[in-house]
Amino acid sequence: MPSAVLFSKISRHFGAVRAIDDLDLEIAPGEFFAMLGPSGSGKTTCLRLIAGFEQPTSGHLEIFGETMEGVPPYRRNVNTVFQDYALFPHMNIAENVAYGLMIRGVGKAERLRAAGEALEMVQLPGYGARRPGQLSGGQRQRVALARALVNKPKVLLLDEPLGALDLKLREQMQEELKVLQRTLDITFVFVTHDQGEALSMADRVAVFSDGKIMQVGTPQDIYQKPRSRFVADFVGSSNVLPPDFVETLTGLSLWASLRPEAITITDQGGYEAQAISQSYLGGSTRLGLSLNGLRLNAVVPAGKPVPESGETVRIDWDRNALHLMEAS
Ligand code: ATP
Repeated sequence: MPSAVLFSKISRHFGAVRAIDDLDLEIAPGEFFAMLGPSGSGKTTCLRLIAGFEQPTSGHLEIFGETMEGVPPYRRNVNTVFQDYALFPHMNIAENVAYGLMIRGVGKAERLRAAGEALEMVQLPGYGARRPGQLSGGQRQRVALARALVNKPKVLLLDEPLGALDLKLREQMQEELKVLQRTLDITFVFVTHDQGEALSMADRVAVFSDGKIMQVGTPQDIYQKPRSRFVADFVGSSNVLPPDFVETLTGLSLWASLRPEAITITDQGGYEAQAISQSYLGGSTRLGLSLNGLRLNAVVPAGKPVPESGETVRIDWDRNALHLMEAS
């Protein structure tokens, strides 16, 4: 089976800006794929290239084995859910959801049937006659999703679709989206700058920086084995240890990452450090430490005593928990 999405050496430049730079990427059919990275790193441009709203400056793009050269957006088997939902305020919900079908000349009865089915998928049955202004933000988000699913695309592109929702709703929608993706077996390509969201939802994650992919892998790979300092810094609250310090531990002059949960407080051995801050997280407490000026975060599980600021503690970690990596 061909890849759902295949980028071969794709670049998209805007004048001097290399929004996407010589990118190779393969997304498998049925995969939930997240594009993660800071603002301006090229994620949206990547989605727009897949959707056909943007053309590559150079390189080759295929969707399910078909070249996309010269194929306009409406002829691609792809739909997009935008962050701002882009619903038409003067149309009711059913008309909004059925809009793409109307454009394609599908008859009214069939359109309404398909819209009703899509609204059921997103758990909004019976909302067809309302207007967007009569729905909550979370409901509007579901309508945008129903509209993108109505003509059963093979690839669904989601550009920060949960960005406008409050935390609780966001977490609920994250789970629902995952269930929906599994049920429908559609390839999802999800753009976010929220690392927690990417790690919890995706089968694989690509970490973007400056138009390039720094690493692509499973959430576990990306979190536990960041290949570079950039990925370690961006994904999660890893401690990044500089080469001079790592050299004293391993003899190798390399950067290393150390996950906060790998640091333990001990009675003897290890290193002497000062506690400098505590943040209560409910299930645990994040402890800020200074080890000869090197700032580290540790996690103290619930029920264990939390050192006070200024207190001297001994800390240690398993040598295997140190993950060596490149500088950039
Ligand atoms: P965000 O998370 O803020 O949406 P992003 O990772 O999606 O960021 P892009 O929107 O893909 O990043 O932008 C990548 C780079 O390309 C940025 O430097 C941006 O300013 C530039 N860029 C994107 N579209 C255009 C355009 N139409 N004209 C000029 N520059 C553009």
